[in-house]
Amino acid sequence: MTVQEQYELLEKTVRGYNSAADMEQIRAAFEYADRCHQGQKRKSGEPYIIHPLAVAQIVAESLKLDSESIEAALLHDVIEDTPATHEDLSRLFSPIIADLVEGVSKLTRIQYATKEDEQMENLRKMLMAMSKDIRVILVKIADRLHNMRTMEYQSPEKQKQKSLETMEIYAPIAHRLGMQRIKWELEDLSLKYLDPVGYQEIVAKLDAKSQENEVFMQRTEKQIGDRLNSLGINHIVYGRIKHPYSIYRKMFNQNKSLDEIFDLFAFRVIVDSVGDCYNVLGVMHDIYKPILGRFKDYIGTPKPNSYQSLHTTVMGTDGVPFEVQIRTRQMHDFAEYGVAAHWKYKQNGQGAGTEGKYEWVRRLLENQDGADAEDYIHSLKVDMFADEVFVFTPRGDVQNLPAKATPIDFAYAIHSAVGNRMVGAKVNGRIVTLDHVLKNGDIVEILTSKSAKGPSRDWMKIARSSEARSKIRQWFKKEKREENIVNGRAAFEQELKHCGVSMKDVTAPENLPGLLKKVSYSSLDEMYAAIGYGGFTAAKAVGRMHNELLRIAKKDQPDVPPAPAEPQAPKPVKSEQGIIVEGLENCLVKFSRCCTPVPGDEIVGFITRGYGVSVHRADCPNASPERRAAQEGRWIKVSWGADTNESYPTTIEVICKDRANLLFDVSSALSTTKTFVLGVHSKSTEDNFAIFRLDIKVRDGEQMKAIMNRLNQISGVLQVTRPAG
Ligand code: MN
Repeated sequence: MTVQEQYELLEKTVRGYNSAADMEQIRAAFEYADRCHQGQKRKSGEPYIIHPLAVAQIVAESLKLDSESIEAALLHDVIEDTPATHEDLSRLFSPIIADLVEGVSKLTRIQYATKEDEQMENLRKMLMAMSKDIRVILVKIADRLHNMRTMEYQSPEKQKQKSLETMEIYAPIAHRLGMQRIKWELEDLSLKYLDPVGYQEIVAKLDAKSQENEVFMQRTEKQIGDRLNSLGINHIVYGRIKHPYSIYRKMFNQNKSLDEIFDLFAFRVIVDSVGDCYNVLGVMHDIYKPILGRFKDYIGTPKPNSYQSLHTTVMGTDGVPFEVQIRTRQMHDFAEYGVAAHWKYKQNGQGAGTEGKYEWVRRLLENQDGADAEDYIHSLKVDMFADEVFVFTPRGDVQNLPAKATPIDFAYAIHSAVGNRMVGAKVNGRIVTLDHVLKNGDIVEILTSKSAKGPSRDWMKIARSSEARSKIRQWFKKEKREENIVNGRAAFEQELKHCGVSMKDVTAPENLPGLLKKVSYSSLDEMYAAIGYGGFTAAKAVGRMHNELLRIAKKDQPDVPPAPAEPQAPKPVKSEQGIIVEGLENCLVKFSRCCTPVPGDEIVGFITRGYGVSVHRADCPNASPERRAAQEGRWIKVSWGADTNESYPTTIEVICKDRANLLFDVSSALSTTKTFVLGVHSKSTEDNFAIFRLDIKVRDGEQMKAIMNRLNQISGVLQVTRPAG
């Protein structure tokens, strides 16, 4: 086919599904691309323009996308491979087209190296996050598909490398976007180069039996078709052999030969309505014997990528099992072309929309009802893009940082020593300021020096991640003790003034030991240092010393009659272990083990027989309103006093997807938050979850919240709760 013929085929294809297509613009894009790529050749020796034309053909034929996507497909390599610029495209076509092409080029520029699973997942997320317009990733997938189809002209190394990349990055993305047909082709083409022997074996055996298989499929199609016709159900039915890679994976996973693979065949029945789907299911189970446990209703509970169908496996009349998938036309189009099909329905329904037209992508990602756990986690991750940014190290590792992260966050994410020695940073080869906001796909390089002075206090304000901030704080704690003491002392003195206590009173030998005990520091310098580096605050110090300070202040003014109690500062009440029991003094207090309350929690007390008052969280099931009503006289009001204990034992439960190094990450989270750990109990479930029960000591609810937040940031963690009841 000549270039001209191929272009005419493209026009014809586009006209076939989109009568409103802007043919003038499409032709202009083709002619411009042709001119730009003039003289360039593909590895096959063909003129280069063949490639963008073929990509546009896939975008039209398989995905049925809009005019802008076709133009972007035709132009997708001009920025990368020719002198054409974003400005040129913006002027000649439109800023949208220019952005689409630029977006595809950015994805092309990303360098991959195969890594462990977590890195691959980060890479996939990065690609999705970089494709702000979903059409960018769709054109990129079409580009990859054509490159895979023409891979034979590449060197063996390149074949292997591109195939691996396709298998690990692009096929999973196609799957996530619901594009089954393209996913299969990508997988089969990759397998062909990754395991040529295995691939050929499957293809050869399928070929050898193709006559036999064909007969079986036709007979079965006819059986199903005749029965549905007799019942007057409008339908399309066809059989297919599962694609080589899915067979390969089954052979591999189940360690079986091709002959042992259970269901090689799949039949599809496409009908008009959901009601008909369930009717056809009944008919199938009537004609053939259903195989137990193989029925799945993805209409009632769609998969997270919105896939809908009824699946069942039955035993054919001659003992050959096969799968049947039953769905409506719309469900079918969505299954085959995913996001692109959804697009088409939307377009036909309402014409091209504005910003809101990507609304459904978000909904797609949110639609997690009834999803099984594994898939749920995937879609959850996709959904979290908004608050993450993905950047590369110079070695090609992907670092996952909070949105709006800066080189400071990046440096400390690599290692605290890198952060502490940082003297500058480069993004994509250019020197940037340290408050430079990182973008998806940036390559970030940190410039370090042995003679660096260390972080500045301003960095704490610039950094977006709590990890960086806490590492910077650590550094100040260690390196700047003198300075911290001076700053801490100044802050403490300032705070003291509010209480009318002089520094002299605090340092007086008869007062000091009692005061230090309240804040649990061994000396004032220790406390000042902590205040100076930010591990403790002057306000907290004075707060803890409050009662003691009041007593000292009173002693200093013996002649002044006691002032009437001010309403905002109620008379301190004596507490037991930080708990004030209404109407009872000197009462034995214990904390219930079922819900382990900490200061800040809403609490209630229960008068036990002989062991004083047991304190529960107000939301503990053991203190439910029913229970409280049932034993009315024994429940009593309790509250937290101003003089709470230094710490309280409590429990956190963490549920995660199990993976290597999880325990390590959990324990390092506990150690970076300086949590006092009493015990860690973990168990793994059969379905690959891990549940940790962490028994810890905390000062108050605030510290508790900080620890829980930190645990929540660990990759794979699904839920962090405080168990009760
Ligand atoms: Mn290309």
